[in-house]
Amino acid sequence: DLVLVTGASGFISSHTVQAFLERGYNVRGTVRSAEKGEYLKNLFKDEKKGEFEYVIVEDIAQDGAFDEAVKGVNGVAHMASPFHFNAVEPSELFEPAIKGTVGVLESLKKNNPDVKRVVVTSSVASIMDSNVKPPHTFTEKDWNTVSPQECEEQGKDASGQAKYRASKALAERAFWKFFDDNKPSFDGVAINPPLVLGPIIHQCDKPESLNTSVAVFYSWMKGEKTEKDLPAGGMNYVDVRDTALGHVLALTVPEAGGERFITGNGPVSGNDYVLAIAKDFPDLKNVPKGNSDPEFKKKLTAESIVHDGSKATKVLGLKYRSVDDTLRETGQSLRERFNF
Ligand code: NDP
Repeated sequence: DLVLVTGASGFISSHTVQAFLERGYNVRGTVRSAEKGEYLKNLFKDEKKGEFEYVIVEDIAQDGAFDEAVKGVNGVAHMASPFHFNAVEPSELFEPAIKGTVGVLESLKKNNPDVKRVVVTSSVASIMDSNVKPPHTFTEKDWNTVSPQECEEQGKDASGQAKYRASKALAERAFWKFFDDNKPSFDGVAINPPLVLGPIIHQCDKPESLNTSVAVFYSWMKGEKTEKDLPAGGMNYVDVRDTALGHVLALTVPEAGGERFITGNGPVSGNDYVLAIAKDFPDLKNVPKGNSDPEFKKKLTAESIVHDGSKATKVLGLKYRSVDDTLRETGQSLRERFNF
């Protein structure tokens, strides 16, 4: 089988390409430049079970951007979308997020209607309601309506988070609407991860270029955070390798069709980060001291927002690795990559 992975040069997508290759799929990745494509070809050159090839799609928001890329593939993981909190105009994020998502589907309808399934990388950003006070548990039944509303009312004065979250919610809405309107013979699945951590394998030669989620952990390691950043703050996390596998399973498990899946392993806090750093990298300086009392951890968890990732375990068979492994291996990979 040949699958298409869009935005293959990214943090999560490079792991997703690897997960497909390891399971014997051939993968075509879209990248924005030949340099990024060659980096990936080299990264995956020793994969024995599946072959990697790339095509260049410079801008996913262009009409017909994916017309050629979709030809001959049996499945698609659409992962390309901007993830940062620095947009000025909401449209900077909305255009690529929404047009990119609908564009893949339109190209399939036109040039490859026999494709079996499309998995879109959505986010808990499409699910959460930032006005809800913890403790609270969100599930796949929930939709983020507040961020799109904030952007509609405030335009460029909306917060950076609201612009990103709205881009994901509106893109996922547009994804499902396409199926309702067009009734294609292929179906769709959404994967909704919270903050994704884990080792980096994608091209990234300086810390300033780190993807948004791993940059959070990097800043803890480098002593850029203080005691006041320690509380839970409503973050949930998942390991990048688990979320990557979630995409593979979503494309293959028949019952996944038409469903959304939170791939999340529960709340994580600054306190967890600093305890992991103190244990695994005791030489790092200026890292705030955490509270190692298990009762404190229990209290933080009990007072958290939870994005319930159990449906992915039940339906897709996805198991989550431990937070200790994820944080240690994230840290190891950052130290190796940036030599500190
Ligand atoms: P990255 O920034 O590493 O990956 C984003 C990818 O999208 C890159 O390959 C990037 O290309 C590509 N891209 C962005 N904008 C465009 C555009 N206009 N045209 C073409 N390609 C574009 O981030 P992640 O791996 O973290 O994110 C991947 C997906 O996962 C996104 O959809 C994100 O919203 C989602 N997600 C991420 C979470 C996280 O915590 N990391 C949590 C939940 C969801 P290039 O490398 O050339 O810039």
